[in-house]
Amino acid sequence: MTDWEWQQYAIETQAIRAGQRRTPELEHSDPIFATSSYVFDSAADAAARFSGKVPGNIYSRFTNPTVRAFEDRLAAMENGERCIAVASGMAAIATTAFGLLKAGDHVVCSRSVFGNTVLLFQNYLAKFGVTTTFVDMSDYEAWESAIRPETRFLFLETPSNPLTEIADIHRISTMAGENGSLLVVDNCFCTPALQKPLDLGADIVIHSATKYLDGQGRCVGGAIVGRQELLDKEIYPFLRTGGPSMSPFNAWVFLKGLETLSMRMRAHSENALSLAEWLESQPWVKRVYYPGLPSHPQHDLAVRQQAAGGGIVSFEVEGGRDGAWKLIDSTRLLSITANLGDVKTTITHPATTTHGRLSESERAAAGISEGLVRIAVGLEDVEDIRRDLLRAFA
Ligand SMILES: *Cc1c(COP(=O)(O)O)cnc(C)c1O
Repeated sequence: MTDWEWQQYAIETQAIRAGQRRTPELEHSDPIFATSSYVFDSAADAAARFSGKVPGNIYSRFTNPTVRAFEDRLAAMENGERCIAVASGMAAIATTAFGLLKAGDHVVCSRSVFGNTVLLFQNYLAKFGVTTTFVDMSDYEAWESAIRPETRFLFLETPSNPLTEIADIHRISTMAGENGSLLVVDNCFCTPALQKPLDLGADIVIHSATKYLDGQGRCVGGAIVGRQELLDKEIYPFLRTGGPSMSPFNAWVFLKGLETLSMRMRAHSENALSLAEWLESQPWVKRVYYPGLPSHPQHDLAVRQQAAGGGIVSFEVEGGRDGAWKLIDSTRLLSITANLGDVKTTITHPATTTHGRLSESERAAAGISEGLVRIAVGLEDVEDIRRDLLRAFA
């Protein structure tokens, strides 16, 4: 539950102070509640808490003070009423889907979402009688005509991975609202430091806390943010019953990560813009994808919707898979890993890693070519990153 008092403070302040409830020990830093269960004053107290008549901790699958501190802090930062923390970003999407959907329901999903998100809808939700229509994220007519009376929600990610396409959140939320459908936005790439989808009309925000919220590549986690009533009624019961819970230790790491989120996102964005501009000037680079570049097809929308371009830069090199793999293998400083949102710069080949489980035609439809390389720009000196890439190319 968000303490609305926090809404008068800037995000940098919320990130450091919101959600903390000091215990009688008067600790300054947030404690880790490493406990699976809680004791009750009496049998009657236990019964009252289990039934929900009296609020309080019951069992850490669905109530833990450290996890709650993380939830309340992130809710404040996203301008949301309520946050539910879960075990991973994929658990956040699956929990949202299991909570909201029933057989016969329909989902409209951007084609340019995280690879596992496509598989979740296509391979698993389909088994329970939920159908999904995939659309090009910037084709607004396609969104409009895909919506049906039984469409429960629309799902998108902006900027998208790895091509950094931008979707107009306000415009798509209006379409969803006119049909009585919800808009769910995966805000992983921007985080609330750069973009607040709820303020733009989205109903639910999804996070992979694994990425920028942690910020140093330590823990896997996820979160769902939105209106109190919607989350309490339709999504929280699935967490309690299905059990994709966040561990208190991970919640504590994410709490610490949030404290520096705004500073880090600004620094990631500055490094990424500088690297993208340099890549665009390199003759061995065919095309650069970065929302902060004026050459980005949706640069104007990006400037309106996001406070900065974020940390992800993708580019195409000559020579298809061979060219991309050679460049990746020849770097010395950059880490070859598919993770992103780390202080360490990472380099990856989307076609054979993050998007490798998609079929060739699905990849082609999503615009992910064999020569595409994705860099999640970290916080090292950007000149050192440039030098590593130039040496790798040579
Ligand atoms: C990584 C990622 C996810 C999945 O998160 P996990 O924590 O790895 O489960 C979802 N969406 C986006 C955009 C991601 O980058």
